[in-house]
Amino acid sequence: MTDAPLREFIDRHPRLFVLTGAGCSTASGIPDYRDDNGDWKRARPVMLQQFLAHESTRQRYWARSLVGWQRMSTARPNDAHLALATLERRGRIEALVTQNVDGLHQAGGSFNVIDLHGRVDVVRCLSCQQRLPRERVQADLARRNPRFAALDALAAPDGDADLDGVEFAAFDVPPCDACGGVLKPDVVFFGENVPKERAGRAMEALRRSDAMLVVGSSLMVLSGYRFAQAAAEAGKPIAAINLGRTRADDLLELKVTERCTDALSFLLSGVEFSASRAEDVRLREEAR
Ligand SMILES: [Zn+2]
Repeated sequence: MTDAPLREFIDRHPRLFVLTGAGCSTASGIPDYRDDNGDWKRARPVMLQQFLAHESTRQRYWARSLVGWQRMSTARPNDAHLALATLERRGRIEALVTQNVDGLHQAGGSFNVIDLHGRVDVVRCLSCQQRLPRERVQADLARRNPRFAALDALAAPDGDADLDGVEFAAFDVPPCDACGGVLKPDVVFFGENVPKERAGRAMEALRRSDAMLVVGSSLMVLSGYRFAQAAAEAGKPIAAINLGRTRADDLLELKVTERCTDALSFLLSGVEFSASRAEDVRLREEAR
């Protein structure tokens, strides 16, 4: 398929508001929650209210997360992440707002990123608000639950995994080491609101932009869809790259039904910033 319409859309609008979703990370081996119709592919992810109310839900969550993290933590940015980082370096992106919690945009070289739904590599105590690196919690989870740590399973997008027929009651969930409180990954769960300040910052960036580009999202979740609504209300044109239907299809000026990596590949032609180079940058940052 020709990339001309998308290229032209990007050329015509120098200050892009980019919103990315799960489809941007599938080529990195992180599966999508939804099918081409925007329906759930698997069991619904855990709801905040259940997580808070039931120890058994937290046991199930952390058991699946212990296993799923192994894939999540080794995922690397793909060409879609690199293409968007290139666009940012050319000064074309007002803000990149992502619904993904995997940190792969930053790993791919983007700086101006708003993690709308938080980051799965950070854990927060719901009582004293202490933040912990996930790696530390992961080590504690594995030490307390060696039997689970040895399991392998299909990973889900937020770093949890499908474990069928496993008994979770024996799972030992670590409490906060400072106050004994409940630990939760620092991500926005289903049933939870995006923090006001963060949503406001993203909406402010949309106001400064002249167009919106959706990359790999069906916009089924309201926290993402509302940006498309706001863009449409402000008369800003919207383009979307997504394999399936999006909730905003009626609002789009341009729809590109392709994989994100394919649709954006033209941005990388002639660019020497390769996946291995991004990996070098990441390793250097980690070494600091
Ligand atoms: Zn605490």
